[in-house]
Amino acid sequence: MEAHIKSFRGMVPDYCPGPIQRCNFSQYPINENSKSLRAVTVSSLRGDSTKFFDFAVIGSGVAGLRYALEVAKHGSVAVITKAEPHESNTNYAQGGVSAVLCPSDSVESHVQDTIVAGAYLCDEETVRVVCTEGPERIRELIAMGASFDHGEDGNLHLAREGGHSHHRIVHAADMTGREIERALLEAVLKDPNIFMFEHHLAIDLLTCQDGSDTVCLGVDTLNTETQEVIRFISKVTLLASGGAGQIYPTTTNPPVATGDGIAMAHRAQAVISNMEFVQFHPTALADEGLPAKPTKARENAFLITEAVRGDGGILYNLDMERFMPLYDERAELAPRDVVARGIDDQLKKRNEKYVLLDISHKPREKNSLTLPQHSS
Ligand SMILES: Cc1cc2nc3c(=O)[nH]c(=O)nc-3n(C[C@H](O)[C@H](O)[C@H](O)COP(=O)(O)OP(=O)(O)OC[C@H]3O[C@@H](n4cnc5c(N)ncnc54)[C@H](O)[C@@H]3O)c2cc1C
Repeated sequence: MEAHIKSFRGMVPDYCPGPIQRCNFSQYPINENSKSLRAVTVSSLRGDSTKFFDFAVIGSGVAGLRYALEVAKHGSVAVITKAEPHESNTNYAQGGVSAVLCPSDSVESHVQDTIVAGAYLCDEETVRVVCTEGPERIRELIAMGASFDHGEDGNLHLAREGGHSHHRIVHAADMTGREIERALLEAVLKDPNIFMFEHHLAIDLLTCQDGSDTVCLGVDTLNTETQEVIRFISKVTLLASGGAGQIYPTTTNPPVATGDGIAMAHRAQAVISNMEFVQFHPTALADEGLPAKPTKARENAFLITEAVRGDGGILYNLDMERFMPLYDERAELAPRDVVARGIDDQLKKRNEKYVLLDISHKPREKNSLTLPQHSS
């Protein structure tokens, strides 16, 4: 998903060609809660509640933090985030990050794998940039203090995941996102140009019209601890507020993933694209299948990392029939959308609630995975 305001321009607030206007969202159905939130926004904005920054970054996941660190070289940065700073999808990422880091692998192979896994719908230029720059981004994270697993040879341990023809997944056990988030947050907190505003819920982008262009001037937020409205005026505003997994009944996304940024962008008349590309991760723990049910309902489903299939895990239906070869010759190592559809098809056809993922045929000592989260 991408969102960009038509002819988005950063500009110094003094030069705004028209009055700042809050986006008009009265045309959209709003519930009782959002009505009262809107009333709070207008009435409680006091003079001392406006802050000025060169950059306002909404979201403290990998996208927001990495951007903040980069632009802090050029000016002051506000990182605005609605919960604790670490609370993000990034913090829950398990399996790892793919990058070409082994001599027998190549950027071209990574590009081809990505294009095939993307069903030839990817923007090839973007794929090339990501695959080419990936190794450097990993080295940057390491330089910032992120610690990834190493093999016995002392090199980074590279796991294999579905859709990849090589081992190229850099990981920190099965808690890669937590490690990346930790390292980035530490770097951000050390940077004197970056200011973190936690428990600040971004409500709406501030926009004004410049002819037919909509210009973004900052964002209104609600400090959810003090109920104060804080307005951020910025030359550049970045929406890095993540996805909307929580709109589905079952999701591995944490409670913060409610698509606020997409809604804000829509209200600000930004062009929103690629909304149809929602990734459904094939495997998460099905509480229905557990011998002992969890005592408390989970906020989000526990993801079973792709690396389990990458390391030889086999999917069975409840009659212990291996079904993935029926759907794709790559079987369990097919790309995620293929495996997710295969599982969904089995569940619907067989009217069952879950499938089984078995890696017990691999002796523990031959298993190259260390999955502390999965075994706890
Ligand atoms: C369980 C799980 C496992 C995953 N495993 C992998 C993996 O192995 N490899 C991989 O590459 N990817 C993985 N992903 C995907 C990856 O985590 C995401 O693609 C990536 O972290 C997205 O980063 P982001 O910065 O765009 O968004 P997020 O990390 O979600 O950050 C969004 C931020 O915006 C904040 N926010 C949201 N709304 C507002 C608002 N209104 N006001 C203020 N702040 C707001 C949130 O609190 C959060 O800080 C996984 C995802 C999940 C959920």
